Amino acid sequence: MTLEEAIREYQEDGYEVTHVVESVCRGCGGRTFEVQVTDASALRRTCLDCGLVEFIADSADFWEDDDAEECACTCGGERFAAALGSSCRPDGEVRWLTVGLRCLECGLCGVYEDWKIDYTPSRHLITQA
Ligand SMILES: [Zn+2]
Ligand SMILES: [Zn+2]
Repeated sequence: MTLEEAIREYQEDGYEVTHVVESVCRGCGGRTFEVQVTDASALRRTCLDCGLVEFIADSADFWEDDDAEECACTCGGERFAAALGSSCRPDGEVRWLTVGLRCLECGLCGVYEDWKIDYTPSRHLITQA
């Protein structure tokens, strides 16, 4: 199963996922990361190639360093490829986001967080994977 398939399957009974964008480091173009998550469903990824730290979508607004935890696969792996799935309304604004990670150790794909977007404009979030 690909990361995109995992995200779409996870939201099968929710809002249809209309876009899936793979995370790419804005510093070096890298596609492998360590990922941290907080209780507030905020995610931050650190590029394994250059160390650049970036937030996924609007996570910077909800970030709390104190409760950040490393995402870990069931195999113990903590290095991932990442993708952001967006569920858009007919008018193109985002109403739901889903973050999937693929473990680089064992290849398992899973959804680690999803959260509601209840403001506009929000369509810029689609590409902030
Ligand atoms: Zn990088
Ligand atoms: Zn794994």
